[in-house]
Amino acid sequence: MLLSGCALTVSHPRALHPLENFVPLPADSRVQVEPGYEAYGERVAAALPDAIAAVEAAHYLPFAHAPRVHVCGSDDCFRRYVLTPKLSAAVVPDNRLILSPNLDGREKHRLSALLTHELAHLHLGQRIGHYHSTLPIWFHEGWASLTADGGGADYATDAQAYAAIRAGRRVNLGARDTPDKRHRAGASQLNIFEFYRQSMLLVGWLRAQDESRFKALVLAVQDNTDFEIAFWNVYGQGHATRLAGFFDGVQSDPIFNDNQTVQAAPAKP
Ligand SMILES: [Zn+2]
Repeated sequence: MLLSGCALTVSHPRALHPLENFVPLPADSRVQVEPGYEAYGERVAAALPDAIAAVEAAHYLPFAHAPRVHVCGSDDCFRRYVLTPKLSAAVVPDNRLILSPNLDGREKHRLSALLTHELAHLHLGQRIGHYHSTLPIWFHEGWASLTADGGGADYATDAQAYAAIRAGRRVNLGARDTPDKRHRAGASQLNIFEFYRQSMLLVGWLRAQDESRFKALVLAVQDNTDFEIAFWNVYGQGHATRLAGFFDGVQSDPIFNDNQTVQAAPAKP
């Protein structure tokens, strides 16, 4: 079973483990490679500029510090740093991004997308830290997935996310990240794939509705403003109230509801 959830939701990283086993890639010292896996490192270096540009554009700010990516070519390497070795990539709390050998193997095609998703977490982590208590997890993961153009939310389709909403399985908008207890998708009866996809659709809807307001919101969040306060300041209402507009649209709009529109309503007697 593959896990699409990134370390922020499903892993408990070994934060303090030293990183002495990595060496800088000659072509790009931002990429730190496990010795012997330089070819993997070269692929990461090739994907890095676009990934950084996507994150900085989506966050409307440059990285506070040049990001570093640690590339594990072996399972042993990845296991030393991340407690959930099935993960494809992970950001750990002290802003070290570790990539797993999966992204050089069976999940090779996901490298760019997951690198971007994790760099989005790293970017925000540099400014406000990780496990920030005021940021709802749907926003945290939805924004990273949106930034990565679906990366990290790629095991469920939009249609599946809409179907879950119509079936009454909605993201718990109130769940927040806390250092001691990470909220999981199960808390809202969604599977992890539906949770990521629905979260991405929520954040994408906010941005599409009014990008200037969305930009004001995320700049405030990145300046360490409490999420709820920032949301009220920008939108003049709470986020649950605002997002009811998204849910109502999914519930009523025929374009989200293909299966039912083809059936004519029965004639009244
Ligand atoms: Zn994530």
